[in-house]
Amino acid sequence: MHEVGMMQNIIDAAVKRAKDEGAQHIRLVQMRVGEVSGVVADSLQLAFEVTKKGTIAEDARLQVENVPVVCYCSNCNIEFHPNSELNECPECHQSYCEVRQGKEFELAFLEVS
Ligand SMILES: [Zn+2]
Repeated sequence: MHEVGMMQNIIDAAVKRAKDEGAQHIRLVQMRVGEVSGVVADSLQLAFEVTKKGTIAEDARLQVENVPVVCYCSNCNIEFHPNSELNECPECHQSYCEVRQGKEFELAFLEVS
């Protein structure tokens, strides 16, 4: 389950940020997770439970904001939401267009005390 390793980075960053602010506890960890980040929501929650143990985030809740995929076609100069993994442009049908949004896996917000 690669989510554990990814979540470990998030927890490390969250703990560092909280300590820099002089906080003793993290109450809430809010993340932005893209639709094509390759992360499964259930696994993420589980990874969170595992990695927060023994840290100042032990009692924290996890809140995930899902970020939809947005692709960009340079031929048509449009942004669109792809219907398949081919990221095909709905206008000119070019495949594998640039993914501009949707790969996020990042810390968005912390609530500390
Ligand atoms: Zn196009």
